[in-house]
Amino acid sequence: MTQPALPHVVVLAMGGTIAGTAASSTDATGYRAGTTGVDAMLAAVPEVVTKARITGEQFAQMDSSDLTDELLLALAHRVDALLARPDVDGIVITHGTDTLEETAYLLHLVLASAKPVVLVGAMRPASALSADGPINFFAGVAVASDPASAGRGVLVVMNDEIHTARDVTKTASLSIHAFESPYGALGVVVAGRPVYYRGVARPHTTQTEFDLAAIDTLPRAGIIYAHSGLDERVVSLVEAGRYAAIVHAGFGNGTVSSRMIEPLEAARHAGTVIVRATRTGSGHVTAVGASGSVVDGWISVDDQNPPRARILACLALTVTRDPAEIQRIFDTY
Ligand code: GLU
Repeated sequence: MTQPALPHVVVLAMGGTIAGTAASSTDATGYRAGTTGVDAMLAAVPEVVTKARITGEQFAQMDSSDLTDELLLALAHRVDALLARPDVDGIVITHGTDTLEETAYLLHLVLASAKPVVLVGAMRPASALSADGPINFFAGVAVASDPASAGRGVLVVMNDEIHTARDVTKTASLSIHAFESPYGALGVVVAGRPVYYRGVARPHTTQTEFDLAAIDTLPRAGIIYAHSGLDERVVSLVEAGRYAAIVHAGFGNGTVSSRMIEPLEAARHAGTVIVRATRTGSGHVTAVGASGSVVDGWISVDDQNPPRARILACLALTVTRDPAEIQRIFDTY
């Protein structure tokens, strides 16, 4: 009996700690991210050939803290082109963990394909004792090559857990258990196979209104982080009026200091979309907030954290500038 052909998985390497090296195997912090290439990673984890036929592609070689919106969009177009090929069954993207959640979320909203797309990273460099990159990479290939992963949106596989790109966030600076989702993982990787326990309720990939083919640039958006003593001049420091959107990472239920209302309103009158988020780390931001900190025409984020709210604001602005429509988009995704 002939065996069915293995799925074809393309590995796109972006750099990050998973491709990082230090001078010593006991050094898990003083290293350079993005120094070893995709070929070295494939050679280090030959076990992946039991799961898939692999093609490696070095898309970038960087520390993901340097990721720009331009490169992120270029990655999305590259992944989109690969997914359109009938001979490609799934994609694994190796990525620095620092901005992995933003990349994953953008892809989750713009890739119009049900084929599995999985992001993986590592918290310890490739040269470290008990490096987590190889097992995360193997688990990522196992997830991307399994038909059970199709149609679930973009996934993040770290530390044997499978998370949805909608929810996952980096919650630790050094621990190998650095990625968590507020409502829990979708599943786990057990004995080299994905086991799923839940799905994603909000629309993604094939179900969204965002047309990647029509997006050749992302509107410029930034985040202002609220803190006691926040100086309203920070808005002019970030050139508010020139931003298409500002996410305000506010207190509690998205509360904005009274000092910030006027400069943010001035920015809104100059054409900037103002989005209220929370710096608390979890929870919903309601449209009606405490005190006078909610202004007509400002957007509230639902439950998205500020970095992902920034991505969603950029995408919303590719579709509309109407605040009611932008609010609908935030309430939808
Ligand atoms: N700052 C580096 C990056 O994001 C290292 C973090 C990591 O990959 O874990 O690429």
